[in-house]
Amino acid sequence: MSPPSDDEFENMPPSENVDDVPTVSCSRCNREWNLDYELDELKLGNQSVEQFALDHRRHTGHFPDDVTPWVATCRQCPDGEQFLSEGAARRWARTHARHTTHEVTLEHAGEATILNAE
Ligand SMILES: [Zn+2]
Ligand SMILES: [Zn+2]
Repeated sequence: MSPPSDDEFENMPPSENVDDVPTVSCSRCNREWNLDYELDELKLGNQSVEQFALDHRRHTGHFPDDVTPWVATCRQCPDGEQFLSEGAARRWARTHARHTTHEVTLEHAGEATILNAE
């Protein structure tokens, strides 16, 4: 049993969804991007939109259109973060509450939940 060679990897069918390069637009920047760089250079596949959104926020301070982030905001101190997945946001909130005993509000698509320290 040998591990697959590079040739075999190259012969594997390309991942799905590549025919149709996804695009992301941002009304704040008034620009639109296609994600061929994320797909071809970074090999991110289905995560390319998510990665683009995180990169966009890292470099511009805001998310592009059609992204609904999970927003964790501490009710007692200026700390807070935005995430694209509920799991990551809850982990942040729980960790912050655990270490500081602060209450953290978790908001997503207009719904807010308050997390307490246990
Ligand atoms: Zn933008
Ligand atoms: Zn806090």
